[in-house]
Amino acid sequence: MSQEERVWTRRAIELLQADGQRSADTHLVKLDFVGLPGISIYLKDESTHPTGSLKHRLARSLFLYGICNGRIRKGTALVEASSGSTAVSEAYFARLLDLPFTAVMPRSTSQQKVDAITALGGRCHFVDNASQVYEVAEAIAAEAGGYYLDQFTYAERATDWRGNNNIADSMFRQMSGEAQPVPDWVVMSAGTGGTSATIGRYIRYRNLETRLCVVDVEGSAFYDAWQSGDMSITASGSRIEGIGRPRVEPSFIPGVVDQMIQVPDAASIAAARVLSERLFRRVGGSTGTNFMGVLCLASLAKARGEQGAFVTLVCDSGDRYSNSYYNDDWLKAQGIDIAPWRARIEAFLDRGVGGFM
Ligand SMILES: *Cc1c(COP(=O)(O)O)cnc(C)c1O
Repeated sequence: MSQEERVWTRRAIELLQADGQRSADTHLVKLDFVGLPGISIYLKDESTHPTGSLKHRLARSLFLYGICNGRIRKGTALVEASSGSTAVSEAYFARLLDLPFTAVMPRSTSQQKVDAITALGGRCHFVDNASQVYEVAEAIAAEAGGYYLDQFTYAERATDWRGNNNIADSMFRQMSGEAQPVPDWVVMSAGTGGTSATIGRYIRYRNLETRLCVVDVEGSAFYDAWQSGDMSITASGSRIEGIGRPRVEPSFIPGVVDQMIQVPDAASIAAARVLSERLFRRVGGSTGTNFMGVLCLASLAKARGEQGAFVTLVCDSGDRYSNSYYNDDWLKAQGIDIAPWRARIEAFLDRGVGGFM
């Protein structure tokens, strides 16, 4: 490495660390429901990062990983395959380091995410099918002599799961003052699988009694692969942005997952809407999936007469989905009827009636 490159690398790492220094930890919000006495539900709110989702953490880690491996240098053209949230965060860091950035995304990606990427100076390249993003991103990077950030491969290894301020460490530290400081379950959906890998590894590393449940969605390969052990399974692709993948991503680590649940998209969207009303602000579709997973496990605990503590994430804000999950015309066009799910969820939360398993 030349002296000039050394200077650039040192400056780049300083800038990334300074962004970390300016960041505050995200809140762990506790929710109480009249119908669920003895059941504590916590939401770690990742929507408050500067780029609006949990991907702010991942993007910073992926940039540090690429720079420290000598792959990201002054002027390196960066390319990513994304369903949008990661690309927003990466566009932010690319601008911070004055590097060109191209996002390869499905055409269905929400307009709000496309606008955010463009406003941050990134370029958007669209593909018709979610399963095409990998190949196209790799080809664009190769052609430009650039670097494919490849979140789906590197998420699990770019994140330091042992501690020093990862999401798991933060979440468990924030639980320390609670009546039940070690939750029964952490519930998380999977996109790259990186967050569930970090949480699952951390649980084992710290010898915690907590179990990890991964909630999957329609059109995703993760659930069937985990059930059957066949990691070569593929699927059509998910309507819930950020989660559910057409293939089992390399960053999904099945060995750390204690249980998987698959929920219908109508349930995810109904749960997102009900939760938004209770939080007084909109959450994204994947947060609805997470909340639905919590309700499944909580209804099991309730049926057994047990108490319980459950932790999950607000992954991003619902403001990004005003044209889809929060638009009744979009739901109709997709053939999704959320009314029966909404009624069941409300009956459960408010009257303790019914269940989901
Ligand atoms: C990426 C993402 C997830 C899933 O997180 P992973 O760590 O990639 O598994 C959930 N929701 C949203 C909105 C996301 O962008």
